Amino acid sequence: MELAQKILWAGVAMLAFLLGLCLFSLPDGKLHVFVLDIGQGDSILIQLPTDERILIDGGPDNSVLNELGKVMPFYEKNIDLVILSHPHLDHVNGLVEVLKRYRVGAVMMTGVSYNYSGYAAFLEQVTQQHLPVVYGGAKFSNGRGVDYRLGTVILDMIFPFDSEQGRTFENQNNGSIVFRLLYGKKSFYFPGDLEMEGEEKLVASNLNLHADFLKAPHHGSRTSDTVPLLERIQPQYAAISCGVNNKFGHPHAITLQHFQERHIATYRTDLDGIIEAVSDGDRLWVKAWGKNS
Ligand SMILES: [Zn+2]
Repeated sequence: MELAQKILWAGVAMLAFLLGLCLFSLPDGKLHVFVLDIGQGDSILIQLPTDERILIDGGPDNSVLNELGKVMPFYEKNIDLVILSHPHLDHVNGLVEVLKRYRVGAVMMTGVSYNYSGYAAFLEQVTQQHLPVVYGGAKFSNGRGVDYRLGTVILDMIFPFDSEQGRTFENQNNGSIVFRLLYGKKSFYFPGDLEMEGEEKLVASNLNLHADFLKAPHHGSRTSDTVPLLERIQPQYAAISCGVNNKFGHPHAITLQHFQERHIATYRTDLDGIIEAVSDGDRLWVKAWGKNS
């Protein structure tokens, strides 16, 4: 090949690469919720229309780093808010490396007391890096709702009702941070692993629990997804985060049946890979990336 031809082809390749980068590049003025495919656990990246990012939980290991690489441009290292729903290993472990490798603006957690090495490593990073901490789930401050605003979205904090700082739980799942993300006319419900005991408190409250998109609580376990709560949320879409052939049997057939009976379009990370919900504030689309993405 002539040298001139080689140079021409190199130029074309470079242009294609740059075009690809531009096409991929977020923000695009829309909200993107990525339920990441991190195996048995939870990790959800929310890309705001105004270019902030929120990461809820980090999954059971460092596979979150690879997943973040798929949904964030490689040069982007800022995550504005990291939320730890509760300190179980399948939610906290991956966050330790995330805190080390990304510039994190603030951390939201409950501050529960829990004796687990992964949680200790997470708290150590928070302390070492002097990260600002928001104790989430804060309807308890002055009896008024203390919601969290970032860019053009609101985190409508639902649970816990009371401060959990320093508290111990028999079942950490029932201390999970629960909130709705509100953007324009659309809403997204993130309940961590809250189980029936917690769900009953929500159903007994007069809080607005409606959401168009539901991240299924506790990986689609039958110990969550009570029908009265589903009736309050009335989602159009549900995303279940669970590992392929996981030993817990998640999601449970009853949960799937409850979704099916209500015609809720249901996606699963074990079958569908990354699940992406996109909204312009008016409409909402959900797509699965597939297992080979
Ligand atoms: Zn879990």
